[in-house]
Amino acid sequence: MEPRNNPNPASGDDTEIVSRRIERLSLHLNPTPRTLPDGDRQIGMATCARPKLEVDTGKLSGYMRGPHRDVQEKVFDYFESRPELQTPLEISKNDHRELCWRQLVGLVREAGIKPFRYVADDPAKYFAILEAIGSVDMSLGIKMGVQYSLWGGSVINLGTQKHKDTYFDGIDNLDYPGCFAMTELHHGSNVQALQTTATFDPITDEFIINTPNDGAIKWWIGNAAVHGKLASVFARLMLPSHDSKEVSDMGVHAFIVPIRHLDTHETLPGVEIHDCGQKVGLNGVDNGALRFNSVRIPRDNLLNRFGDVSRDGKYTSSLPTVNKRFAATLGELVGGRVGLAYSSVAVLKLAGTIAIRYSLLRQQFGPPRKPEVSILDYQSHQHKLMPMLASTYAFHFATSYLVEKYAEMKRTHDEQLVGDVHALSAGLKAYVTSYTARSLNVCRESCGGHGYAAVNRFGTLRNDHDIFQTFEGDNTVLLQQVAGDLLKRYQEKFQGGALTVTWNYLRESMNSYLSQPNPVTARWEGEDHLRDPKFQLDAFRYRTSRLLQSVAVRLRKHSTTLGGFGAWNRCLNHLLTLAESHIETVILAKFIEAVQNCPDPSARSALKLVCDLYALNRIWNDIGTYRNVDYVAPNKAKAIHKLADYLSFQVRNVARELVDAFDLPDNVTRAPIAMQSEAYSQYTNYVGF
Ligand SMILES: Cc1cc2nc3c(=O)[nH]c(=O)nc-3n(C[C@H](O)[C@H](O)[C@H](O)COP(=O)(O)OP(=O)(O)OC[C@H]3O[C@@H](n4cnc5c(N)ncnc54)[C@H](O)[C@@H]3O)c2cc1C
Repeated sequence: MEPRNNPNPASGDDTEIVSRRIERLSLHLNPTPRTLPDGDRQIGMATCARPKLEVDTGKLSGYMRGPHRDVQEKVFDYFESRPELQTPLEISKNDHRELCWRQLVGLVREAGIKPFRYVADDPAKYFAILEAIGSVDMSLGIKMGVQYSLWGGSVINLGTQKHKDTYFDGIDNLDYPGCFAMTELHHGSNVQALQTTATFDPITDEFIINTPNDGAIKWWIGNAAVHGKLASVFARLMLPSHDSKEVSDMGVHAFIVPIRHLDTHETLPGVEIHDCGQKVGLNGVDNGALRFNSVRIPRDNLLNRFGDVSRDGKYTSSLPTVNKRFAATLGELVGGRVGLAYSSVAVLKLAGTIAIRYSLLRQQFGPPRKPEVSILDYQSHQHKLMPMLASTYAFHFATSYLVEKYAEMKRTHDEQLVGDVHALSAGLKAYVTSYTARSLNVCRESCGGHGYAAVNRFGTLRNDHDIFQTFEGDNTVLLQQVAGDLLKRYQEKFQGGALTVTWNYLRESMNSYLSQPNPVTARWEGEDHLRDPKFQLDAFRYRTSRLLQSVAVRLRKHSTTLGGFGAWNRCLNHLLTLAESHIETVILAKFIEAVQNCPDPSARSALKLVCDLYALNRIWNDIGTYRNVDYVAPNKAKAIHKLADYLSFQVRNVARELVDAFDLPDNVTRAPIAMQSEAYSQYTNYVGF
């Protein structure tokens, strides 16, 4: 409902109100032109008048587009041609699960898009398919991720050739729908404490899979409630000694366990399956709980890449300790995290596109006797959406870099790269998914009441995406891994060790941190200086180095009285801030590189604009830290604020081009409020006028 009182104090008498009302209604019926005249757009921004940047959307989207756009278009075309496979707005949990399965089967068997082969051979292509599928229905994206990245990925990454030979085709063509059964009722994040056991029986040459207590029931397992026939089950490998009196715990390993009959689909003896029920979102995915009552599987079902058991019950591994084997096992599973970080950016692009297109169209209030203005002309609205748009671009390049590094890691198995990708995927997954989750609320709210209509997609996007913050590693836990990694490298640096690629900057900036900030540069406030990538990156790096140095000192101090665990907990917020600061530094560095590498001058200028906004907005958000140590003097702080404000306004002027460059097809941004050409008529049709 609109407010009864017109809050515009300068508006005139009743006749004027009526004529403005008519004018407004006619605007609803005849959508606004794509761009407003400059004068109107610059309301309250007289001091900012500068020529509008010309953005060649085609060139920009050409630069952003990955090499696998063709397969994404195949996905979009397939669903466009099969309306009966599109997810309706109102659908029950059971129908959604069945539809999701039919969508996946259609994609693989009818459209011939077979993602499994790309999981190992061309991860960038796999993630491109995942991105396209996720924007059609996120449940489908997750269902596909469970089948190919989690279940399939565990078989090919943790198993050996015999497993590939036996299972690859069945996983690929969906004859072997499967699950990834790691989490238990009592343990999600702390995977090393899992309690399910796999005890070797040397007499029958089998493993016995057992759930020792209710806390060890496998919980939340995707594909388990309805469709899964097999599962990779994570369990403690128990090895009896020769006289069978004692059993050695060899740590957590993965085993292939059939859970339903391949032909009849009946639950197999010894396996108990329950449904985890209705969820907040992602109801197209059938999550279930599994209990194993002494289920026997052949010895060959141990996924034995990092540890094996011989016929006579001897354990062998190329890795010397339980911890090393565990790290190697989890290290092979980072693909899921890479996929989530990448897909989360796709969600952010989608929500941002809907919110920004709508905000350009929607008009409320205006100066006396003038047409109403677009809500995106309000400074507050620009502040909500423009830094978000800049962040979306920043994340796009950072996650593309992550995918590139992940693919290189899969190709080379380079040890340093493995460590780098592990920390980078943990950090980006945590940072990006938390940011997107917050932004989905902002997007909904910035579209007012219409943002609340389910047809406009924010509800599903928000509910489906929310769990991205938790699965594949809880974000708070993942950020601690990043902080731990930084501290380890910091220690190595002082012991003369080498720093790997992404962390290289610490070598230089630690030195500059140890010296005092320069009082002269702390006062520089010229636009050229503030938009200089060197200033921006130095500021980010300085902050990370400072946080790293100070938390290392605090940890040392507290560990003498509290012990390692207690000291870590005492410094936990500090550690999380450090991890976020580091990830922001990596994101900015990759963004700056992407701007510099962009071959087209028009696209480069547009990217430079959003990159500057990203950098200065982040510095401004953390201005207290910079002021505290006099890295930035008061005059400079003020200049940063003013410039960030101005850049926000500049970005607003090319916001349409910037979202168009995401190149999302109409069947993805289907939200009626985002469809400018048909504008409200789409929406009014939808409700039945
Ligand atoms: C829809 C859905 C699908 C899933 N699919 C699968 C699947 O297919 N297969 C599978 O194996 N699992 C699956 N999971 C499980 C998922 O991976 C776990 O939920 C996740 O790992 C988190 O574990 P948890 O739920 O036990 O949370 P917990 O670890 O109990 O965390 C609860 C809270 O405690 C905090 N916390 C925990 N430890 C720390 C710490 N050290 N420091 C600070 N804070 C901490 C966390 O930040 C969090 O806020 C799924 C879950 C859901 C909801």
